[in-house]
Amino acid sequence: MKPFGYLRAGSVDEAVRAGADHPGARFLGGGTNLVDLMKLGVETPPLLIDVSRLPLDRIEKLPDGGLRIGALVRNSDLAAAAVVRDRYPALSQAVLAGASGQLRNTATTGGNLLQRTRCTYFQDVSKPCNKRAPGTGCPARDGAHRDLAVMGHSEHCVATQPSDMAVALAALDATVHLRGPDGERAVPVTDFHRLPGDRPERDTVIRAGELITAVELPPERPGARSRFRKARDRASFAFALVSVAAVLEVRDGTVQYAALAFGGLAHRPWRARTAEKVLLGASATQGTFGRAADAELAAARPLRDNGFKVPLARNLTVGVLAGLNECT
Ligand SMILES: Cc1cc2nc3c(=O)[nH]c(=O)nc-3n(C[C@H](O)[C@H](O)[C@H](O)COP(=O)(O)OP(=O)(O)OC[C@H]3O[C@@H](n4cnc5c(N)ncnc54)[C@H](O)[C@@H]3O)c2cc1C
Ligand code: SF4
Repeated sequence: MKPFGYLRAGSVDEAVRAGADHPGARFLGGGTNLVDLMKLGVETPPLLIDVSRLPLDRIEKLPDGGLRIGALVRNSDLAAAAVVRDRYPALSQAVLAGASGQLRNTATTGGNLLQRTRCTYFQDVSKPCNKRAPGTGCPARDGAHRDLAVMGHSEHCVATQPSDMAVALAALDATVHLRGPDGERAVPVTDFHRLPGDRPERDTVIRAGELITAVELPPERPGARSRFRKARDRASFAFALVSVAAVLEVRDGTVQYAALAFGGLAHRPWRARTAEKVLLGASATQGTFGRAADAELAAARPLRDNGFKVPLARNLTVGVLAGLNECT
């Protein structure tokens, strides 16, 4: 076992100060991903800064009608909150589609957003991996990549972002709030996770020592409904092969508003702006939904063994949008 220090932060300021003073330190939320990676030798932080008891565990309605979700709200509490289930059902559905009941009781909102890829080479320290050890190569490109990216990948990394919650948050236009040594800032969820490019070791735009303090949702759109669906190998306890989160508003048979995000296809939640343009102002029919999915998925570049994700994403999209259309 590699020795590491442990500090239980008594305040947000103390946590951020400790992060700035100890390069390589990691914040500990529920620990359901970080501790696993430490056991595997993938993460070797010199210090764990335990933030799990900080007062960031509330879900609060904002004066403008939006919602503020503290970074330490547990996944189970988030999924069960009446305000989330009523106003942002896609978020509740996405959280419930992830992990298991026990894990969700422990896992936090901030930790969920920052969980690392499930690429098997990343988790195996005996293998090369550009994300874990930059410059060593990407064996997944020609190796086991059935579960990995079909969009936005690079020659350096073909990993996928694993959080279901992040996909729903991307469709819902959420914002991540951060506090770091240089102060506070807010980043749209759609800009928070990165594409791999030539720096696959960086999953997100978070800076060293920055703490996620909250995630904020804009007010619900009157007349719009949201939904999340996930295709996976098992009915539970499995990561997404493909997932879709959608917000749809239809009036008199015409799409007034559409927001769509894919999971399981890329290194970040994939906000489907091309599909949204096809949907906006068009008749809400299965034909339109299929054309929108096709327009977005034209950018897909499947690898040898994961081409099946493209038709899967199309069918899931059509099903989700058709289901939402029936309820609007
Ligand atoms: C068997 C299994 C199955 C799973 N299946 C799914 C699934 O299907 N879908 C899914 O979405 N997830 C799944 N998960 C992942 C699970 O959702 C994550 O492990 C969990 O959400 C991480 O939250 P945590 O609070 O435990 O994070 P931690 O493990 O505590 O932290 C994760 C990372 O975030 C950092 N961090 C934590 N909190 C903060 C903060 N406030 N600010 C800055 N950095 C922070 C940590 O330093 C660490 O790098 C699964 C996990 C397991 C073990
Ligand atoms: S896909 Fe990314 S995480 Fe997986 S082996 Fe390649 S570089 Fe590593």
